[in-house]
Amino acid sequence: MNNQSTVRVRFAPSPTGHLHIGGLRTALFNWLFARHNKGAFLLRIEDTDLERSKQEYLDAILHAMTWAKIDYDEDLVIQSSRIEEHKEVIAQLVKEKKAYRCYCMPAEVEARLAIAHADLEHAKYDGYCRNRAVTPDLQNKLFVIRFALPDVEKITFDDLIRGPVTFNKEQFDDFIIARSDGTPMYNFVVVVDDAFMRITHVIRGEDHISNTPKQIMLYQACGYAIPRFAHLPLILGKSGLPLSKRDAATSVMEYQQLGYLPDALINYLARLGWAHGDQEIFTREELIRYFSLDHVGKKGSVFDMTKLGWVNSMYMRELPDQALLEQIKEIRPRFEAELSKWNDVQILALIALYKQRTKTIIELADELKSLYERSTPYLVEDISAWVTQVTIEHLKAVANALEDAKDFSLEAVTQTVKDCAKQYDLKIVNLAQPIRIALLGKASGPAVFELIALLGKEETVKRIRAFVAFLDTNKPLK
Ligand code: GLU
Repeated sequence: MNNQSTVRVRFAPSPTGHLHIGGLRTALFNWLFARHNKGAFLLRIEDTDLERSKQEYLDAILHAMTWAKIDYDEDLVIQSSRIEEHKEVIAQLVKEKKAYRCYCMPAEVEARLAIAHADLEHAKYDGYCRNRAVTPDLQNKLFVIRFALPDVEKITFDDLIRGPVTFNKEQFDDFIIARSDGTPMYNFVVVVDDAFMRITHVIRGEDHISNTPKQIMLYQACGYAIPRFAHLPLILGKSGLPLSKRDAATSVMEYQQLGYLPDALINYLARLGWAHGDQEIFTREELIRYFSLDHVGKKGSVFDMTKLGWVNSMYMRELPDQALLEQIKEIRPRFEAELSKWNDVQILALIALYKQRTKTIIELADELKSLYERSTPYLVEDISAWVTQVTIEHLKAVANALEDAKDFSLEAVTQTVKDCAKQYDLKIVNLAQPIRIALLGKASGPAVFELIALLGKEETVKRIRAFVAFLDTNKPLK
């Protein structure tokens, strides 16, 4: 076991696609573990699959981590840049007879296994080349490098989340550690690089659990200290199967486009599989302070968009209005230009009014845009609920009173509307709701007096009169 006292963990994405939600959660748990233990969180890019690895994906992964504010320590390790070292270790293993050249073509192995009546689907390599002499006919033949499985019955490790995990030797064969073109395979490079980076804890998705015994045997063969392992349960969709595009957006940056704040997504992901009592909302400092692998569950957690929306709404409420405006502009750069009749003060005040009622940045932007445009049809149900023939009279009176108002402050407009209600012996709500329909097209929305004051005299009066004209012309009332 590794007896270094400083925690060193790593996140090791392959740049073969965008950063996914599951990847971000793995990065986050590593990051929290490192920050909690005052250790180091390193980033390694596993790009040995040269055909599928792309610079654009590497850039996208780094961008997503920056957006999520998961920072890493020390230099980025690019796996492909270490290939010479990987090859040296392979040569050493071959020299020590812990690995060997295998000249068998897949068809040859299959033919031998068929004779032995083996179950081909689950067939394992039969070790044919382990002690094969390199005869002249093999000199120019392509070969792979196989690991010579050590003579052990069982491989057991103590997973920090799942407890003791045991694999039997029969589950493995002399697996390939380098391809015929000399490039090393995943299980091998991970071990060499984790040892090089002095990783003390490997925290990764449960999908890697069957790789761990192979890697432990490789650590032993290479004489490296074995790190501790923790396998995180999978993130599931509603169906109980691993999260897929059918359940929710899977790529991290899609969540920005959908209007989620990075801190909210991180808070939500932290709670996906980990708990600290029944607390739901955590600052980063709290997450760092409380995080421990002991409180990571063994079962997969279901990704729940409704809960993410709730967490996001909590974060939106706390964010200053200016910061929310910046967030909107990141997704909709032309946002302010689209609301050109409103000045900054008005926009910020409307953000303050709406941020309590919206769950995403997109919803907030859409609400403001729809308030600005006032183009949706008036909601018929709301008209039936709140408007009668006499309401036309009340609305005309309130439009006139507001038009004549000298002062359009919140207090003043509140008083003007209240006075009108009193004049007609109405409950405030029976005047406020028709006004809200006039201003928004519907009876639900933020406080009506605030809306009147923020829209301003000209716009408010115009909207109330337009509604009156609509009621007069379309006669929706019984
Ligand atoms: N590159 C691997 C992946 O993206 C991670 C390997 C590991 O964490 O050991 O799944």
